[in-house]
Parts: sequence; C-alpha cells; structure tokens
Amino acid sequence: MLKFEYCSPTKIVFGKDTEGRAAELVKEFGGTKVVIVYGGKSVTENGLLKKVEENLSAGGLNFISVGGVVPNPVLSKVREIIKSGVEFGADFVLAVGGGSVIDTAKAAAHGIASPETDVWDYWAGRAKVKKSLNIGSILTISAAGSETSNSSVITNDEEDKPTKRGITTEFNRPKFALMNPELTMTLPKGQIGAGVADIFMHTSERFFTNIQGNHLTDEIALGLIRNIMKYGVTGYNTPTDYEAMSEIMWSGSVSHIGLTGLGAKGDTTRDGDWSCHQLGMAISAIYDSTHGATLTAVWGSWARYVLEADVARFADYAKRVFGLEGEDKTVALEGIEKTEEFFKKIEMPLTLTKLLGHKPSEEEIVSLVRECTYNYSRKIGSIKVLDQDDIRRIYEMAV
Ligand code: NAP
Ligand code: FE
Repeated sequence: MLKFEYCSPTKIVFGKDTEGRAAELVKEFGGTKVVIVYGGKSVTENGLLKKVEENLSAGGLNFISVGGVVPNPVLSKVREIIKSGVEFGADFVLAVGGGSVIDTAKAAAHGIASPETDVWDYWAGRAKVKKSLNIGSILTISAAGSETSNSSVITNDEEDKPTKRGITTEFNRPKFALMNPELTMTLPKGQIGAGVADIFMHTSERFFTNIQGNHLTDEIALGLIRNIMKYGVTGYNTPTDYEAMSEIMWSGSVSHIGLTGLGAKGDTTRDGDWSCHQLGMAISAIYDSTHGATLTAVWGSWARYVLEADVARFADYAKRVFGLEGEDKTVALEGIEKTEEFFKKIEMPLTLTKLLGHKPSEEEIVSLVRECTYNYSRKIGSIKVLDQDDIRRIYEMAV
C-alpha cells in the first residue's frame, strides 16, 4: 500500500428529521451569529427554511438569511453575502441547499473572515485562504458532495466571458452536515439524475488515475460505483423510496470525502484524473448547463480517447463493476458502453448535441477549449495528460 494522509473532519448526522438539530450543531461548533445561505424557491416552498429559522430562534441563536443562490453559483452573490455577513458580525455560515449553496457558503465564510482580501483572488490563484468562519450544512440534494469535500466551485459573473473555477483547501471542509434523505424527495427528476451522475463521476475521476496501488481504496471505489448505479436508478424512478434516496445521499458524501482516492500518489491523497470535471466546468461556464449533465455528455468520449493509456484499468473496472469476462480491450470497451447505458437509465445526455439542444459549431468548440485550458495556459488529466489538441478532439468526439 502506498502512503497517504487522510482527515475528514465533517460530523455527519444522518437520517429522518436531522434538520431539527441545526441549532444544537451550530452551538457545538461555536456559532452565535449565523448567516443562513439558501438558493431559490425550493426551501421556501417546502417550508424547510422556516423550520430551520424557528429551530435557530428556539436555540437562542441570532441569524440573518440570504437567498438567491443560483445553480452554477456566482461571485456577485458571494460578495453580497460577505457584505451582509460582515455588517451583521457573523461568526458562522449555515448552508441550506445543495452544492451551489454550500460552495457559496464556503466562499462567503472565507470572505467574511478576511474582508480585506478580494475573495475572487482565492479562485484566481492570487491568494491562499488562511482563515475562515465555521460552516455547516443541511443538505437538500445528493450530488456534489460539497457537504464533506474540501472544494468550492464559483463562476465569475463580473467578466465579459464567465469563468468557472474551483479551489481546494481544508478551510472548505464543513464542520457538520445534517443529512435527511426525505428532504431530497421533492427534487425534480432531472436534478436526481444529474446528482447521481455527479456522484458516479467523483469516484470515476479518482479511480481512473495514473498512480494506483491501494487495493482497499479500489474496493471502496468500485463498491460505491455499483451502489450508485443500483440505487441511483431506483431513486430516479421512485424518489419516494427512502432506502434508495438514503443510499444515494450517503454515496454522494463518500464519493467526494477522499476515501475513494486514498493512497495512490505515493506521498499523499492521490490526485485523481478530473478531466471530465474540467471539460464539464468549461461547458457550464459558457452555457450554464447542469453540472452532472455536462459530465455524462463527455465521459464516454473521454474514456474512449484515453483508453489506450491504461486498458488494464478500464478492463478491471468493467469486470468488477459489471461482471464482464474476456480479453482486456474488448471488455474495457464493453464497460464503457455499459456505463453509458447507466447514464441513459437516469436520462442523462451522452453527447454535447443532446446536452445543448443544438450541434455545437467549430467556433463553439474553440471557445470550450479556450475555457477548459484557461486560455491555453494549462493541461488537464493524469491517466493521460491532455493538451489543447486532445481536449479539442474529445469535445469533437462528444458532439
Ligand atoms: P444545486 O445547483 O445546488 O441545485 C440544483 C437545483 O436543485 C436548484 O435549482 C435547486 O433549487 C434544486 N433543489 C435543491 N434541493 C431541492 C429539493 N430538495 N427539492 C427541490 N429542488 C431542489 O445542485 P448540486 O448538483 O448539488 O450542485 C451543483 C454545483 O456544485 C455546481 O456548481 C458544481 O460545479 C458544484 N460542485 C461542487 C463540488 C464541491 O465539492 N464543492 C463538487 C461537484 C460539483 P432551489 O435553488 O430552488 O433550491
Ligand atoms: Fe462534480
């Protein structure tokens, strides 16, 4: 087994009615003045926001609530929350929502803790986060895994061409996550499917990497993939199925908590490949597409393009996830097809044309490559390192 470091500091409180413990958990982590961050109308329509506000009041906590976070969350909203939080004297940020709300809460927490720094500098790579407020979340959609992850993804909507950037820092780890699967039963089917796809991807990105060698990590990764393929389809078809929605929810956290990628870099947590996320984030930046759907639109093309870099790894995946047998290359290709069949069962797009509703032109592909390479300044991937020509060819294959 290769060396690794692992710390997952988020306290998970899982099960029915756990949102009723919000005040208790905020106080456990020292919060007294709370900024509640939420998204659009889902939490006002289903009464969750009111319930959380009443819970904090009953617990003797002061709070303000700031809503309006959109999917593919934007910098201008982060700045608004920082301003309100600083004026209020906030010492805790509580996210009530999904990845977009939690990522925004993380950014706002960093900004409130250091109002003298331009918060975008962290995402632009010009500054490092050195302190933050404590963050907690009440999760309403199983998808991004932001409730336990060390990352946060924000779109800069203040530039002519929006850019979507992620940062990883231990300051992004929430102190707690309250996870009631029942809260996810009101999700539209498209969001359940996109979430299930994202959960698959967070482990796929870690499994298909250049350095391997920790067998328990692989067992956890492949077990998680089998689980999300099974319960993801059940939950997609029957969102009232508590067992399925529970399995999806916990899979979402475990997929992005680091466990499915431990021990392959040699000296720390393995890097993962993350190409599909980089390809997908460029699509979301330009077209504001749903994150999970951008990933399935490119995964098959990416997999076929990089296959030769490690046929054995793709064959291993196909054998252990789908029980396929035979010669490595044939089995590897069948495994890619079977994965696409899974995406179809949750009605996720397999191509850019399907995702965008039109066939992207050559100029559109050029724009995607420019955004994905950060204006031709970087390569992506680890199982196979991809330069701008590789990236263009994958987007072309995905048309
Ligand atoms: P999301 O963008 O937070 O939410 C998607 C939609 O679902 C929203 O329109 C929201 O509506 C709705 N929704 C949420 N909960 C609901 C419920 N219980 N009932 C009905 N509707 C509900 O979804 P997400 O997939 O969790 O987050 C996506 C973002 O996370 C992307 O920006 C992606 O890049 C990022 N991401 C982050 C990480 C990370 O580790 N930080 C990892 C992967 C992806 P309302 O606005 O009305 O609530
Ligand atoms: Fe993701």
